[in-house]
Amino acid sequence: MENLLKRKLRIGISACQFGSKVRYNGKGIDLTQCLGRDRGQFIWTPVCPEIMSGMGVPRASIKLSGGDGFDFWRGKAIIKNKEGKNKSEVIKSGAHACLETLERANIDAYIFMEGSPSCGVYRTSLKNQRLGNPPGVFGALLLDRNIFLISSVDLQSPIRWWDWKRRLVAFVWVKEQNICSKDSLKEIWDKIKYVLYELHEEETTKLKNKFHEVLKKEAIDNVEFNKIKEDFLTLLRKPAEIENIKKYLWKNYIDLKNKEGIIVENVFEPHILRNMTHIAEELLGVEKEARKANLFFKSSPINYKPDR
Ligand code: SF4
Repeated sequence: MENLLKRKLRIGISACQFGSKVRYNGKGIDLTQCLGRDRGQFIWTPVCPEIMSGMGVPRASIKLSGGDGFDFWRGKAIIKNKEGKNKSEVIKSGAHACLETLERANIDAYIFMEGSPSCGVYRTSLKNQRLGNPPGVFGALLLDRNIFLISSVDLQSPIRWWDWKRRLVAFVWVKEQNICSKDSLKEIWDKIKYVLYELHEEETTKLKNKFHEVLKKEAIDNVEFNKIKEDFLTLLRKPAEIENIKKYLWKNYIDLKNKEGIIVENVFEPHILRNMTHIAEELLGVEKEARKANLFFKSSPINYKPDR
């Protein structure tokens, strides 16, 4: 079982974050430009539920009333525009059209614009203006489908993006493994356990105990294998704390240095203050050297080498 992912990942994205000027006021920004060369490592599918609803640009802004996006789909909340018109039905059609597009595109993840009453997931307020309760209408559909979700704000932070990318790559790699024996389960665990501890020590310790209990059994059925796989995937969705990223970067770097002789300039101990960009450069530096020497880097266990 090689720790390699060669398939080019497919990412859906709120179109206004991909440079399309589709917001109600005709604005849009291309945050994928912040990713530099990483931008070319993915296949992108931009969608806009409000545009697909038939409302053009410019348009009156909309707001969720009477609940959150889940309530909306249960018929307990509505979408109104600034002129007081009920836009629920067209928004439903627009959101479904986008979801169908993303399903056809077979996306591995979706990058959403936080704050929108359509695409927002954890917040539906913009510039202190409340536009309903989160998630938004489209955000609720994405959550319901259990899609790997990334906030577009994090594309602007090199360290946050590094964290998202390594977890997404590990997530897809785990998802695509066929776990059909104790050995295959153990092999996966051995590759991703370091990242899981970094993400959530307490939950990973519990998972480890559960995992060892399962391994003691004489026979394990597919349902049990899949349950553990789901537990791995759930943990991989969680962003890491910056303090933990720094701590494990140092630990894993020292491990590579002592055991394999890898030397990377300007990698600092966790307590030394430096900015996020510097930490991201340290991570990328160690990752690059480890990959070059064909070594395992515990902070980023799966090697993503997409075909062109
Ligand atoms: S947040 Fe979503 S619905 Fe609003 S403009 Fe962007 S893509 Fe369209």
